[in-house]
Amino acid sequence: MSALAAELAALIRAEGPLPVDRFMALALGHPGHGYYTTRDPFGRAGDFVTAPEISQVFGELIGVWAASAWEALGRPPAVNLVELGPGRGTLMADLLRAARALPAFAAALSVQLVETSPVLTARQRETLASAGVPCAWHRDLSTVPPGPTILVANEFLDALPIRQFVMTADGWRERVVGLADGALAFGLARDPMPVEVIPAGLRQASPGAVVEICPAFRALATALADRDAPIAALFVDYGHVQSAHGETLQAVKGHRFADPLAAPGEADLTAHVDFEAFAAALAGAGLVTGAPVTQRALLFGLGLRERAERLAGLRPEAFESLRVAVERLINPEPAGMGSLFKAISVASSPATLKALP
Ligand code: SAH
Repeated sequence: MSALAAELAALIRAEGPLPVDRFMALALGHPGHGYYTTRDPFGRAGDFVTAPEISQVFGELIGVWAASAWEALGRPPAVNLVELGPGRGTLMADLLRAARALPAFAAALSVQLVETSPVLTARQRETLASAGVPCAWHRDLSTVPPGPTILVANEFLDALPIRQFVMTADGWRERVVGLADGALAFGLARDPMPVEVIPAGLRQASPGAVVEICPAFRALATALADRDAPIAALFVDYGHVQSAHGETLQAVKGHRFADPLAAPGEADLTAHVDFEAFAAALAGAGLVTGAPVTQRALLFGLGLRERAERLAGLRPEAFESLRVAVERLINPEPAGMGSLFKAISVASSPATLKALP
């Protein structure tokens, strides 16, 4: 049993089964044994690879987006550039390099990184030490200084804990993590949930249907909407454009799918992002959102072709590795990154949204 599994088993014996969101929050963020708290999970030797780790082109094009967002905000002389869940800091480093092409933007920005993992915070400090821009770290958005804000996040939303509900003969019941023969096991809460907990469009379902909701969407939307000055944000993540029944909680370890309960704290746990629900939470808080677009469309729209040609021209010897990396980012097959990953832009006003790329 992993150290965390033993601790969770004790917690379940004391308090009863844990809803899936509580289990997920502890598996990822437990202060002593959580997955992100204790390691750098990225890269070939790690558990999974993200877009910024595949090619510098990704972060550079997000930099093009950020520069356009600065223009859309009316070129404020000082702007927060926030990243949620910056991983190794690679996206931000590539973004800042691209931002130098617009010196007034580069001079205006102060980098604010929101990260809960001490290991990854240290890694980000290393990566960004030579970026030549002031950087500050935060555990959540509440301490980010006031003022106009540009925010980017890649593969952040998928790490936010979800709750799951299963349709049964006596109504919707919450999925929980309990114990069976001393081991962690999925089960159902004894009592049915009030149907209001289920999004209206998903209440009609046959037995066995699963609904996932992400309560943190609303908290994030409120934190963004409550800021004192205009914002423009871009979220990139894997998920679906329309809410639907189905379960997407998944564990990944060593680049393979794993059993989410087998070794909590030692495998990455994510859920696909329900972009319809996320957009509804943002709209509910008073923000405006664009229609989600595929990662492929996002990157082409930001000038992927020109950027890749330029890089290939600078380093012809790296042409083949660049081509393979870019193909991976824009792969249009259903499970490919170009199509499974979506981007959604968010702004505090319709005028700002309209001016975003
Ligand atoms: N954006 C990076 C990393 C994605 S992995 C990339 O694309 O490579 C998810 C990141 O979010 C990690 O840095 C993780 O530590 C961080 N994270 C997870 N939950 C968080 C939370 N609630 N608040 C802040 N950061 C969080």
